[in-house]
Amino acid sequence: METITCDIAIIGSGMGGGTLAWALRNSGADVLLVERGDRLPSEPQNWSAKSVFVDLRYKNAEKWIDESTGAPFTPGVHYYVGGNTKVFGACLPRFRKEDFEDLETFDGISPAWPVSYAQLEPYYCRAEELLAVHGTPGGDPTEPPRSAAYPYPALEHEPDIADLADRIGKQGLHPFLMPMGVDRREGGRCIRCATCDGYPCQVDAKSDADVRAIRPAVDAGVRLLTRTHVDTLETAPDGRTVTAALAHRNGEPVRIVAQRFVVAAGSVNTAALLLRSGGGDGLANSSGQLGRRYMVHNSTFFVAVDPRRKNRTVFQKTLGLNDWYLPGEHTDIPLGNLQMLGKLQADSIKAARPWAPSPALRFMTNRSIDVYLTTEDIPNQENRVVVRPDGKIGVHWTPNNMEPHRRLVKNVTTMMRRAGYPLIFTERMGIETNSHQCGTAVMGEDPATSVTRPDGRTHDLENLWICDGSLFPSSAGLNPALTICANALRIAEQSELVA
Ligand SMILES: Cc1cc2nc3c(=O)[nH]c(=O)nc-3n(C[C@H](O)[C@H](O)[C@H](O)COP(=O)(O)OP(=O)(O)OC[C@H]3O[C@@H](n4cnc5c(N)ncnc54)[C@H](O)[C@@H]3O)c2cc1C
Repeated sequence: METITCDIAIIGSGMGGGTLAWALRNSGADVLLVERGDRLPSEPQNWSAKSVFVDLRYKNAEKWIDESTGAPFTPGVHYYVGGNTKVFGACLPRFRKEDFEDLETFDGISPAWPVSYAQLEPYYCRAEELLAVHGTPGGDPTEPPRSAAYPYPALEHEPDIADLADRIGKQGLHPFLMPMGVDRREGGRCIRCATCDGYPCQVDAKSDADVRAIRPAVDAGVRLLTRTHVDTLETAPDGRTVTAALAHRNGEPVRIVAQRFVVAAGSVNTAALLLRSGGGDGLANSSGQLGRRYMVHNSTFFVAVDPRRKNRTVFQKTLGLNDWYLPGEHTDIPLGNLQMLGKLQADSIKAARPWAPSPALRFMTNRSIDVYLTTEDIPNQENRVVVRPDGKIGVHWTPNNMEPHRRLVKNVTTMMRRAGYPLIFTERMGIETNSHQCGTAVMGEDPATSVTRPDGRTHDLENLWICDGSLFPSSAGLNPALTICANALRIAEQSELVA
């Protein structure tokens, strides 16, 4: 069997692993980034709604099993260099200060993190630099304090979204410019197209982990091993250290030997890899918490139509609304966040509505305002990832904190009708829409209730870290990628990963 040696092996090259590789690129350590997928090809199909949403050209994950029904489903994960960020929507908000504290929600307490907002704030600034975030502070009433300006100003609304913002503002609400990771710098590559959210970027203008972190890391000497699936981690006889990652590369077995290992395979695959390792209950699982507290957000696709008016917007993702995010003037409990979807096209929804005639879908999407609504879900012991006896991944998922989500949908329905959009269509996302997956290997001070220490090092193994969304103790109600990135920068600096 081929053996590859290095100082630090990072397994998974998404937002967590990719950022960490970047942060360690000049550390003096020999860093190996191990990725099961390949580079996502740059090709015309990147921007074809039919290729992406009907033919599912870039959905290359195996089926997982819904444990409540036994039915297989296609998860929202993408195995490529850059992981899920290759198709992400590039909305890059910070979590709010309150998201790091015990926060009372409809369905109980959303637990505090072992890291406060103030502790993470300097790393948010650095993450915004790394991901070239475009934002303009001041419009969002829930915005946390910041110690540095955004690197670049926010993208302005196009006229029809500016008009919508105006109509929403007249209702006493505070629409703001959404912080985005697309390259609109002087001479930047972003052309403000309609194919951002859910699509790969054909011109590399999106701040995905591949473009912003991995390519510069590789240029600086980090080694990248693609098409290499890590099957299990092997431990020393005392079970206190990982000795090797046993993998398959292009189908051939390979043994990766390192001083230190970091698992960054995404929330579900990180749990699955550790559950497959170590025998019995899995590796790093003395707490019994591995795989548990799986969170994905409660989410709804919300489409508002005025049949008399076209929406001429091309790049729609400029608006956000957080008036119902925290208790205050407009709500007594957290309801969630509103953000815009990339402009829907007939083919984007054809897969979900195959029976609908294409001309009708075209009529609707030419006029629709397309919104994504997100409510925090609460970590629960029974929402969990398991590895089934046949080796497949199983997911136990019962949504919680749904009442605030229903209220959010109701409030937004009223708001959009008042703004002049009489027809409302909504669809709540199910188990397969796990794009915002987090939890499953939660960090904390107490080894009895958490899998890793606050610095990502596992409580049980001396040379094993975790560095991705699985560390999140709560999901907040906002997009996770910037927080995963900031947390990876913190782990790179604060942990003893580099001896
Ligand atoms: C359609 C879509 C839109 C999104 N939009 C946004 C957005 O606008 N804003 C935002 O903040 N977030 C968004 N997200 C979520 C965001 O992409 C994720 O939160 C983020 O990528 C998670 O980072 P991660 O490091 O935890 O995992 P991932 O990015 O999923 O990376 C995990 C990596 O590990 C690799 N891997 C898995 N198992 C193994 C193994 N056994 N061996 C080797 N490699 C392995 C995978 O191939 C992958 O590359 C979106 C996601 C999707 C799918």
